[in-house]
Formats: sequence, C-alpha cells, structure tokens
Amino acid sequence: MAHGRIFIDAERCKGCELCRTACPPHVISLAPQRNSIGYYPVMLNDPDNKCTGCALCAVVCPEACIIVYRDVAVPA
Ligand code: SF4
Ligand code: SF4
Repeated sequence: MAHGRIFIDAERCKGCELCRTACPPHVISLAPQRNSIGYYPVMLNDPDNKCTGCALCAVVCPEACIIVYRDVAVPA
C-alpha cells in the first residue's frame, strides 16, 4: 500500500470539510482552534500512517489549499 502525507495551508482553509468527507481512511479532522480568518481549519490526524497519497482531498478542496506528497519506491 502506498503511503502519503498532506500539507494543509490552515490560514486559507475555510473548514468546509469536503476533504474530510472525501478521505477514504478518515485521517483528516477539524483543528481545535480557529485560523486568523475565523474558520476551524482541518488538520491531518494520521498516527497510524494510513494516508495513501490518493489526493482526493486536494481534488475536492475549493480553496486549493492542500498539497499531497506520496512516497514512491525508487529502484536501486
Ligand atoms: S491524500 Fe487521500 S488518504 Fe491522504 S489525506 Fe488526502 S484523501 Fe486522505
Ligand atoms: S476542502 Fe479545503 S477549504 Fe474545505 S476544509 Fe478541506 S482544506 Fe479546508
């Protein structure tokens, strides 16, 4: 199974939760504190490394504030 991680620009996130709903392994959750524009942004909550780097979260984000990184095996 591929592994990935995401970077969320929390200052631009409007907390719509579309990414949270779209994420298959459910590793996105709302942060406990508001950002500077008054929204509760989302955060990656993935202690078991379940993010696959599928990028569904980034695709559905209307603010384009998610960057996805996916681990790729490099041939020796
Ligand atoms: S890349 Fe896929 S698995 Fe990872 S947080 Fe986004 S939707 Fe979830
Ligand atoms: S889809 Fe984008 S704007 Fe909406 S909660 Fe997720 S990161 Fe924030």
